Amino acid sequence: MLFQKEFSVSDIQTSAPAAATVSKNKSAFKPVHAIRGMNDILPPESALWEWLEEKVRTVMQQWSYRNVRTPVLEHTGLFVRGLGEVTDIVEKEMYSFQDRADKQGDADHLSLRPEGTAGVVRAVSEHSYLYDGGKRLYYIAPMFRRERPQRGRYRQFHQVGAEALGFAGPEVDAEMILLAHELWQQIGLKDVSLQINSLGQPSERQRHREALVAYFEAHQDQLDEDAKRRLHSNPLRILDTKNPAMQELAAQAPKLMDYLGEESLKHFEQVQAILRAQGVTWQINPRLVRGLDYYNLTVFEFVSEALGSQGTICGGGRYDYLIEQIGGKAAPAVGWAFGVERVLELIKEQDLVPAAPVPDVYAIVPEATALPQAMALLTALRRQGIKAQLHTSADSAQGMGSFKSQFKRADASGATWALVFGGDELDRGEVAVKALRHTQAQTSFALANVDALLAHLQAPEAQ
Ligand code: ATP
Ligand code: MG
Repeated sequence: MLFQKEFSVSDIQTSAPAAATVSKNKSAFKPVHAIRGMNDILPPESALWEWLEEKVRTVMQQWSYRNVRTPVLEHTGLFVRGLGEVTDIVEKEMYSFQDRADKQGDADHLSLRPEGTAGVVRAVSEHSYLYDGGKRLYYIAPMFRRERPQRGRYRQFHQVGAEALGFAGPEVDAEMILLAHELWQQIGLKDVSLQINSLGQPSERQRHREALVAYFEAHQDQLDEDAKRRLHSNPLRILDTKNPAMQELAAQAPKLMDYLGEESLKHFEQVQAILRAQGVTWQINPRLVRGLDYYNLTVFEFVSEALGSQGTICGGGRYDYLIEQIGGKAAPAVGWAFGVERVLELIKEQDLVPAAPVPDVYAIVPEATALPQAMALLTALRRQGIKAQLHTSADSAQGMGSFKSQFKRADASGATWALVFGGDELDRGEVAVKALRHTQAQTSFALANVDALLAHLQAPEAQ
C-alpha cells in the first residue's frame, strides 16, 4: 500500500471519471502541477545545464577534485548540528518530516538536504575517508529550501560544491578561491567580483561577540525583530541583515578584523598574497559573515551586479570545527558552493549561451518496411561517433509521413545530412546521402560499406 494511515486519499483523484462525463479532447484527469519553486528543466534549456556540468567536470579533473555523491535525505539532526540552530535554513527553510516507525517503533526525523557540506562531512567521517590524508571532493546536486520563490531563488535548486578536507594551510583557502575563479574564466563569465573576509578563530570571535552585543544593546531601539531575537543567540548574523533600515547600524558595529590575533591575520595575508600573484582582484568586506555558523578564518563570496538582489552566485569558506561538531575526528576543511540556476541566469544575461546540440544525420524512412535496415545502419554510425536521429511518426497507422514532411523535420533538427532510405536505394543495397546545410551533390553508399559513408560524413569540406 502506498498510502497508509498518515495520509487521507479521499480527495486525491486516482482514477478517471466515467467515460460518459469525459469530453472528447480533454483528459479525464485533472492536471497535476509541479510544486511551487521546483522547476522542470526541458530541452533546449537542459543542454545548457549539460554544457555547464561538462565544464565543471573538466575543471575539477584538472584541479584533482574527485566526485562525491551523498543521499538527498539525511537525519534532521545532521543539519541542526552542522548548520547551527539559529540559522535561516534550520529555523525556517528545511523540508523536514517524521518518517514512519520501523519495527522497533522508532521514527526518524528526516530532512531533504538544504546544502551539501554537512552530508559530505558526515560521509567522510563515517567512512574514515581522511585516514591517509586530506581529500579534494566536488558535487553537482539538487538542494531544497522552503524559501519564497522568486528570480534566482527556488525551493529545489542546484549547487556545484567543492570541499577540500584535511588541509589547514592558507594555500588551500586560496586554491579554493582560484578554483571558482577559474570556472568563471572557463565559462566566460564577466563582471563577477570577489569579496573576502576573515572570521578568525572561536576565541577571537568570542571577544568580538561581547563587544558586538554591548554595541547592539546600546542601540536596542534601532533593532528589528530578527535582530532582537539574534542579539544573544547569534549577534554576528545581525551584520548580515538585509533590512535597509539597519544597514547604517550594522556598518558602524565593531569589526571582527580588529579582534583577530597574529596567527589569523597571517593566514589571511597569505591567502591574499597567493591571489595577488595570479592577478585576481578582490575587496575585503568586513560584513561578510556568511549565513551558516560553521565557518572560521577565510570566508568569501562571488557576486554579480547583473542579478538584482539574488546577486551572490558562490559562497564558501573555511570550516575547521565542523567535522568534529558532527561527531567525526577533528580535521580542518574549506569549501564553497555555487548556485547553478544563478550562474545560468548570468550566462544568459551575458549572451554566453552555447549552440544547442544537433544531430549529424537525420534518417528519412519513407516506408516502415525500411526501418530494420535504417536502424541497423544508424546503430553502426553511432558506434563510430556520429550523432544520428531517426525519423519517427506520431501514429504508425498513418505511415511514416510524406517525403516532404520528413525533409522538413530533417531540416528543423539542425542535422548536417539526410540519409534517405528509399525503396529504390534499398533494393540496390544502398542509402542516399543528401547535404542539408551546403550544396553538395546527392550521393549513394552501399549499406555494407560503413567506412566509406563515414569518411564522406566526416570529410572536412562537409563541415
Ligand atoms: P542567499 O543569501 O542568496 O540566500 P545563501 O547564503 O543562503 O544565499 P549559500 O547557502 O551560501 O547561499 O549557497 C550557495 C549558493 O547557492 C548561493 O550563493 C546561491 O547562488 C545558491 N542558492 C542558495 N539558495 C538558493 C535558492 N533558494 N535558489 C537558488 N539558488 C540558491
Ligand atoms: Mg539563503
